[in-house]
Amino acid sequence: MRTFVKTSATVCLVLATGAVLAGVGPTSGQDQIPKNAVRLTYVGDTAKDYRSLGASGHAVLFQRADKLPFVEAVQIFAARYGYPQPPAEDFHLYLLNDKFQILKDLTYPYGMIERTSESGDLRWYTLVTPSIEVPMRFYVALSFNPHQTKGIYLGLDKNVKQAHSFIGLPDSGFQPVKEPSDWMVRVYMSEQPSGTKGIQRPAERKPAQSVASSIQTGSVDVVYSGIGADYAAAIGKVTDAARDIYTSAGYNLPSRIRVRVECSPGKAVGLRTDGIGGIFLTLPGPEKLLRPSQSGTFNIYGLCHECGHMAMYRTLPSRPWMTTAFAEGWAHYIGSEVTDRVFARLGIAVWPDAYDYRADGTQRLKRQIAALKTPTENPVAAGAKFFMEIDAAYPNKIPQVFREMASATPTAEQLAAAVGRACRSPEAERLFVRHAAILVKH
Ligand SMILES: [Zn+2]
Repeated sequence: MRTFVKTSATVCLVLATGAVLAGVGPTSGQDQIPKNAVRLTYVGDTAKDYRSLGASGHAVLFQRADKLPFVEAVQIFAARYGYPQPPAEDFHLYLLNDKFQILKDLTYPYGMIERTSESGDLRWYTLVTPSIEVPMRFYVALSFNPHQTKGIYLGLDKNVKQAHSFIGLPDSGFQPVKEPSDWMVRVYMSEQPSGTKGIQRPAERKPAQSVASSIQTGSVDVVYSGIGADYAAAIGKVTDAARDIYTSAGYNLPSRIRVRVECSPGKAVGLRTDGIGGIFLTLPGPEKLLRPSQSGTFNIYGLCHECGHMAMYRTLPSRPWMTTAFAEGWAHYIGSEVTDRVFARLGIAVWPDAYDYRADGTQRLKRQIAALKTPTENPVAAGAKFFMEIDAAYPNKIPQVFREMASATPTAEQLAAAVGRACRSPEAERLFVRHAAILVKH
């Protein structure tokens, strides 16, 4: 029995469960593995579950022993399905470093995996590799390019405490599997290269590719390297929705925003804007795009926050008087607010690692404000509190506040008067005066 389960916009799971194909079949090609090779594995000898992933692939993260640097062979617990005649094509076995960069791309003929109806069982197949030296942590990935008429089921062991497995492809990025389970993949490592099919050491590798790609979503161009197209598209959608929300509320945002994402080892996590029309995101690895509880980074909120800086900086280009509490307090307040509104438009599914990002919006901000004892202990939260109060008491007036401030003499008194004029309220002016000590440099 097969059911099609949609897990995201691009990944379609062909899911099959049942005991029909399960069993401990004979292991094919075991004798080609060097005698002294050591097996690395998380999984049992057999598994009841198996998957074929349409438009995607499988990966497992391994950690090797210090003295066993060479991959000699990979075994997969698998069976072919589709037409009896195997397709005249190859499937791919990739060895990747822990940044998902390709160390080696190997191909094997589809026909080496027997069709289910012929063998009756999934069984272990041996994919002999050259002797490939790998880093301490490395991924083994498989791409079978499945279709209605051909594909390869890969076993899935659900009796594991912790998952080391991923779904994805080298050119589109990888996501962790949703539940504790591991693909039925094991690796044979050796201390010295057997050299039966050649030897590859790190120095012989071509440098990792980091060619930039681009994707256009509405009014946003995302130029990216080192992350998957799914995340690049999500970044585009979130930024485009945020741009539209700001523009509809009367803020001055550019007609097009350009987001540049650079992801490569050694880069610090960073997000900034030029204040005009560019947003720049740097990441050391694609795992930093996972939900905040996994990655420690708030990417959706961050994009909304940077658009908030633009909304102010484009109207207020000269601001030597402005404190961090003002600039960052503003971006924190409006970024949190716009995060909630982006959620209302795009919902959970926009982010590949889907989660309820309302938790990163005003919920989080309100907790920070409630915890505030004095403004100086958290000037950004204190600044955000000022903007939250102004926006609540005088809806839709902040764009005008920035315009009035841009033409005011930059003293606390004159800036307060500008706020009063924009909101048409002496009380708004007094609210600014009460916060002036943290909002204006002196
Ligand atoms: Zn900021």
